Formats: sequence, structure tokens, C-alpha cells
Amino acid sequence: MASTIPVDAYLLTLRVVTRRLVERTVQSGHTSQTRRERVEDTSETPPGFTPDAVRALIAMGNRVWTPAAITFQLRNTYPRSAQAPSNTAGLTDDDFRALASRDFAARDGISALFVRSFSGADGGGGAMEPLRSCILCALRGPSGELLSQLLGSILAHEFGHLLHLSHEPVTEASIGNLMRPGARPPEATNLTPAQITVAQGSALARRFRT
Ligand SMILES: [Zn+2]
Repeated sequence: MASTIPVDAYLLTLRVVTRRLVERTVQSGHTSQTRRERVEDTSETPPGFTPDAVRALIAMGNRVWTPAAITFQLRNTYPRSAQAPSNTAGLTDDDFRALASRDFAARDGISALFVRSFSGADGGGGAMEPLRSCILCALRGPSGELLSQLLGSILAHEFGHLLHLSHEPVTEASIGNLMRPGARPPEATNLTPAQITVAQGSALARRFRT
């Protein structure tokens, strides 16, 4: 009942274009004229993840999913540059959907997007099971360090959504569970037997059963 699921990781640098008008003074003979010109500025926001960091996060996700005998296998990391769908580097769920359904659509396996900033409903990450795609943003601590433990736990949680799991009710019983919604401590990575059964029966796990 083991499954090995390929993951293509896209490390996205997002381009945002701003247009502004500048005035230029043009000298012609003894007269000077003021002309307005349209100028485009492109700013680029790199993802804030290295391929090694991505590899480490997927390894953390795999430790969480060991009880279900499900392994996520990094097929490749792709540094890519993309126009931000809403022309802002802080991505929303809609932006994630746009990227995951066009240029970064899942091939045979999972498409995982790594970006600097994402503000979806699921905290620092998001997942869309029908698109077989998840997203993670580079959450950082006060001194700028990547919050690896937390990110590993969020990535494992998003993998859970791709394995057809929904959120657990917020009760005393779900403290420590991977699929509890909202802010969870990084060590909240438990899976119940029922969750393991759902994950193993998901379309993704069945497709990549080994
Ligand atoms: Zn969630």
C-alpha cells in the first residue's frame, strides 16, 4: 500500500510592472518643450527559497507522511520567472489558481509553487486538490531566518489536502493533528487512522501506488 508521488517544485520570481509618466524637457533651438513620456518599471521578487531548502522541507513532509507509507519524491526544482497574475507580488488564492492552472500546472504528479508572499485562506500555504498543486510562502522569523520547522509542517498539511483530507474540527481532540486549521505549532503533525485511510484511498495515492 505504499505510494511514491513525484513533485515538481517551481521557485518563482514574480515580476510586477508599474507604469508612470515622466516629464522631459527637450531643447530645440532657443525654445524648450516639456514632453510627457510613459516609462515602465519592472520589479522582481525572488522566492526566498533555495533548492536545498525545498529539498529539506519535502524531507520533513515525508517524515510526517511515513505512517501512511506515502512518500513525496522531488523530481526537480525549477527556478522560474513569471508575471504576477494581479500585478502584485503578494499572491492571493486567485493568483495561485491562475499560476497553477496555466504555466505551472501539474504534470504527472504534484506541482509545488514556492513564493515570497502568499495570503491564502490557509496561512502560509495553500492547496488545490483538483489541480494537484500546492503553494508555500517564505515565512521568516524576526532575524530573517526561514521558519523551516513551521514551513515543513505547513507543507505536510498542504500535501494532506492533495491527499483528499479536509480540516479537522477545532476541538480538544484535534490538538496536535496535522489537519487542524489555522495556526498550529510545528510539532502538530499527528494523523488519525481514519485520515491515513482517506489519504491512502485518494486519487493521488492510488495513481502512484508502488
Ligand atoms: Zn488547510
